[in-house]
Amino acid sequence: MRSSGRRRLGLTRYFVLVSAVSMATLGFVLIAVTSDALREQSTRTAAAAARDMMVEVVRPLEVRDLRAGTLDATDRANVDAAVERFADRTVEVRLWTTSGSLAYSTADSPEPTVPDRALFDQAVADGRSRTRATTDEHTEPDGSTTDRPALDVYVPVHARDIESSARSGTDPVVAVAQIRLDDTATDAGVAGAVRKVTAAVVLGLLTLWVVLLRTVHATSRRLRAVARENARLAHLDSLTGLPNRRMLADRTRHAIERARRDGTRVGLVLLDIDRFKDINDTLGHDRGDQLLEQVAERLRAALRDDDLVARLGGDEFAILLPAVASVDSAQRRAEQVRTLFAPPFELGELVLHVEPSIGVACLPDHADDASALMRTADVAMYRAKHSRTGVAVYSTQTDESSAVRLQLLGELHQALRESRQDELQMYYQPKVDLSTGRTVGFESLMRWHHPERGILTPDQFVPLAEQSGVIRELTRHALASCVAQLAAWRDVGWYVPIAVNLSAHDVTSETIVDEIAALLSRFDVPARLLEVEITETALVFEPARIVPVLTRLGRLGVQVAIDDFGIGSTSISQLRNLPVDILKIDRLFVRDLTEPGREAPEVIVQAMVELAHSFGLTVVAEGVEDERTAVLLAQLGADQAQGYFYARPLPADRLEPPHAAGSARPAGLTGPFRS
Ligand code: C2E
Ligand code: CA
Ligand code: CA
Repeated sequence: MRSSGRRRLGLTRYFVLVSAVSMATLGFVLIAVTSDALREQSTRTAAAAARDMMVEVVRPLEVRDLRAGTLDATDRANVDAAVERFADRTVEVRLWTTSGSLAYSTADSPEPTVPDRALFDQAVADGRSRTRATTDEHTEPDGSTTDRPALDVYVPVHARDIESSARSGTDPVVAVAQIRLDDTATDAGVAGAVRKVTAAVVLGLLTLWVVLLRTVHATSRRLRAVARENARLAHLDSLTGLPNRRMLADRTRHAIERARRDGTRVGLVLLDIDRFKDINDTLGHDRGDQLLEQVAERLRAALRDDDLVARLGGDEFAILLPAVASVDSAQRRAEQVRTLFAPPFELGELVLHVEPSIGVACLPDHADDASALMRTADVAMYRAKHSRTGVAVYSTQTDESSAVRLQLLGELHQALRESRQDELQMYYQPKVDLSTGRTVGFESLMRWHHPERGILTPDQFVPLAEQSGVIRELTRHALASCVAQLAAWRDVGWYVPIAVNLSAHDVTSETIVDEIAALLSRFDVPARLLEVEITETALVFEPARIVPVLTRLGRLGVQVAIDDFGIGSTSISQLRNLPVDILKIDRLFVRDLTEPGREAPEVIVQAMVELAHSFGLTVVAEGVEDERTAVLLAQLGADQAQGYFYARPLPADRLEPPHAAGSARPAGLTGPFRS
């Protein structure tokens, strides 16, 4: 900014200097040229007048006398009389022979020689008048003398001026009349005109100069503004108008300097949008951009004065907390940011729920410089994404996780190899019929019995698998385990369906249908005992590819369930057109049912149930943790429920009592399972 100020001063100063000099020169030249022209014009007029006078004066004379310079008394009297007629304008009239001797003068004691011999000779030589400015000593009535401006005109007298009968062809100069005109009035007139011209020129140029100066000033100001704007834009993200990574880096550096000086703390919150790539790929970049703009808008609105929200690129945003009181308060800010995503985003006619993953890191707690702060916040964000906790604060344990993630992925590959597949075990959680209390099916949930890390839940490795493409193998393993389990139960007379969770990636290609069909026929298991669960959000993202797969599965006889329903953007009425048999209401809605003072969830769940029933869907409520909820759900018309209230997910051999037992009816699992 300071440098542009210097530039502006320079520009204006430069203009003043250059323009003043050139304006002055221009003015001077203009005035000089104009006054020259005026003077020339007046001289020409004077010469013409002098010629007219000459003609009058010499008319009474003989060419011969004039040539010789011998005028007699009569001639003189005649000339005197002629001269008298112009007395008001002439100061003196003289007649010279061409050789320069005086023939006549109105003066009492005239000089005997030509005052300007050179001009005189020129006039004689080419026969044209010559004019010369001079002064005339004038005697005032009081006897004092003053010099007044006068004009000497040397007018050559041609023979024809006297004798109109002179032979044509030759018209020699016979004498020269020197007519001295009083130039006082003309001079004053010219001077007055020059003054006026000067005034006009000066005024005009001054006005022009002021206008130019103002223009230059304004332009220079505009240039400065443009420069400022460019500088600003270089620090802003073009899509959202938020500060960009560069500005964030600048501000972070400053904040860190201040924090070091004052012993305060700098917090950095990194955020990215879960599944943004899917949104972009399936809904198009326009929608993706729209979403980013809306996210930016919400973040900006939630900003405090000191905070800085920046977009780092893609779906990554950052919030700098330059003076945060504690790590806890940074975390609280992050939680607040997360709640900004609770209301759905409206992209045209599409209503979309998206969730962010947010990482928090603080300096000096987790990092001691800007790049370390960025890195630790990034690690925390990854942790948030993979544990699906929404917000994660950096911890050294977390940090290991980026390395750990890679290692884990390698180990997952290993575990999926034939020899180690027992590490990946299916657990089963019962689904209970709300009207009878009987177990009517199981959902399979994978657990990884990791040799060093103990039991890992899907949150810890399924996203990893989804990102790396291992998911297809993982799903194949889950399907094979579940179908084998169904076969084992069938062998002991149990016909109870098992649901397998599928990822979006699994159902974008129809090969999954062939694989399932092959499995079912290999184990000789009826298709109706197999269910697949696909999340609502997955369905929304790529319906064009997923729906045909689900349709084929349905035709095969496999039941299709929509999982986690209610948090995505599908309206129940859209389900009418989808090849779906079961609707699983997400845990969030179920949990809200018994929240004190809240009635809306009840209404929503009831509406969901009624609509789903009208399309012939079975409704399952997830995450039922207490009896009150179970009772309420039954009242609202839900068909089945699942949750810790009934049972946690357990390995098949711990489902009580062992299904291999002769009773053929595990405790807690009541009702007829035989087909
Ligand atoms: P999901 O399909 O919604 O599964 C239900 C999750 O809620 C399970 O978590 C289950 O243990 C948990 N849950 C059940 N009842 C309750 C309850 O009363 N309260 C609470 N708070 N939670 C309850 P889990 O096993 O950690 O699985 C998490 C997610 O991982 C599943 O969500 C599912 O989307 C995915 N997943 C699980 N197994 C597989 C798999 O084999 N393949 C794929 N692709 N995804 C899987
Ligand atoms: Ca599920
Ligand atoms: Ca679910």
